[in-house]
Amino acid sequence: KMIDNEQNKIAIIGAGLAGCAMAVLLAKQGFNNIDVFEKRPLDVSKNQQRARSINLALSARGIATLQEAGVMEDTEKIAIPMKGRMIHTLEGASNYQAYSSDTSKHLYSISRQLLNERLRTHAMQCRGLNFYFDKQIRNLDLKRGQFQSVDNATGETLSHGAATVIGADGAFSAVRQSMTKLDRQEYSQSFLEHGYKELSIPAGPNGTHLLEKNCLHIWPRRSFMMIALPNIDGSFTCTLFFAFDGEEEKEESFAKLGNDPKKIDQFFRDFFPDAHKIMPTLVEDFIENPTSSLVTVKTSPWHVDGKAVLVGDAAHAIVPFYGQGMNAAFEDCLDLYHCIKDFANKHEHHQDVTTGHDQVKIDTNLWKKAYQLYQLHRKANSDAIAEMAVENFYEMRDHVADPIFLFKKKLEHLLEDTYPGRYISRYELISFSCVPYADAQRIGIINQQILSNLVNPNDLDLSKIDLKLADKLIKELLNK
Ligand code: FAD
Repeated sequence: KMIDNEQNKIAIIGAGLAGCAMAVLLAKQGFNNIDVFEKRPLDVSKNQQRARSINLALSARGIATLQEAGVMEDTEKIAIPMKGRMIHTLEGASNYQAYSSDTSKHLYSISRQLLNERLRTHAMQCRGLNFYFDKQIRNLDLKRGQFQSVDNATGETLSHGAATVIGADGAFSAVRQSMTKLDRQEYSQSFLEHGYKELSIPAGPNGTHLLEKNCLHIWPRRSFMMIALPNIDGSFTCTLFFAFDGEEEKEESFAKLGNDPKKIDQFFRDFFPDAHKIMPTLVEDFIENPTSSLVTVKTSPWHVDGKAVLVGDAAHAIVPFYGQGMNAAFEDCLDLYHCIKDFANKHEHHQDVTTGHDQVKIDTNLWKKAYQLYQLHRKANSDAIAEMAVENFYEMRDHVADPIFLFKKKLEHLLEDTYPGRYISRYELISFSCVPYADAQRIGIINQQILSNLVNPNDLDLSKIDLKLADKLIKELLNK
């Protein structure tokens, strides 16, 4: 049976990006009895044999949430603007593609660890939020609001209760797993044939960047690719996306390279000659860093009455090729915050018997309505970005060096400049706006029809584009 205090408690499982953002936003609404459980220790770096700096692309949706949470100003101090893609050819040449025709627009490259630390520090300063680190949550009985924590250091197991549980525990969520044991819970996971490995380009003399700093670098090589994002210390974090096992004997893959230093070195010399020259720890990194898989997870529903709900990767893990997993996770938090906000002031308050503090009484009937509304807003959109992210994997891998693809990108910028607000590329809608993902997907399909009508593959000359036809197509197909 739950004790008094637990009946009014909110438990957040996972103090990653979504968990910390959700904690701050709930505290902002006056909820002051929130426990946050995180399986990793407070000082993660102590537990890492090799302190790897993994970075992420932060864009409009993530920025909107960080602004609402009051941490964007702080975040900007540790972020590097990226204004476009730098495509590196096999011959070692590099070609720049701006992300937007509006040069003031950019993404940010941000260290996951630093961002998580900023958010967590901010959350730990909020009244009524209690953090428990090194505590792995398991055995969740969501209908009864009960679960256990295991202390990773001591092995001690404790029982907990909460009125409502927010699962922000990532792609392999324990909260989601416990939902799948309930009746009529849908669940699917699918893996790409490719995995990824993080590598590094160290800083140059005096912390300078050895590649153009304000870009996301891409080395597309048809069946595989490498990308690199800048870090504030002058280094770049590279990610190699590569088949686990090649379909044919001759096809390059992680399996084919194995841990053979000669093969690894030669592979990079052959396929990434410019990067190879500035990756002195390449072979060591390649052998020591893990090879990880790329998964898309879908589930439905996202909530159990008013008792539990999923946010971020726990609800919808997606592959990283639109740079949107974290951004979508933050957008979930903002949406859930707005759904709860509508009724937050309808909650009764009472005095906690143990602390004497004013406490908000949790009415799970109200939370049920908020969770339903949140899922209605978010599920179709997260399905849309999951599909577009897989599509973008093939686009980035196979087409970013293709002349017709590159021409269409330039044409999109011309159309955006010529018809501002009327023609907006899918990339722009996803990365530089908060237009719902499903709408961006729908508009993107129409955009492709317009581009196909305008482009003559045998004559890739922007000055020969029929702008009158473009105007007509935009009016007819996009109603703009
Ligand atoms: P997580 O970040 O996974 O956090 C979950 C937290 O829960 C962790 O702290 C974990 O330790 C904790 N936890 C898990 N289980 C338990 C448990 N049982 N008990 C207690 N605690 C638990 N997104 C972008 O927007 N832009 C990008 O450029 C981008 N690049 C990416 C590149 C790669 C290679 C990958 C794999 C992902 C990328 N993403 C990107 C996606 C992004 O990393 C995720 O979408 C984001 O981290 C999701 O945040 P989250 O808080 O939902 O989950």
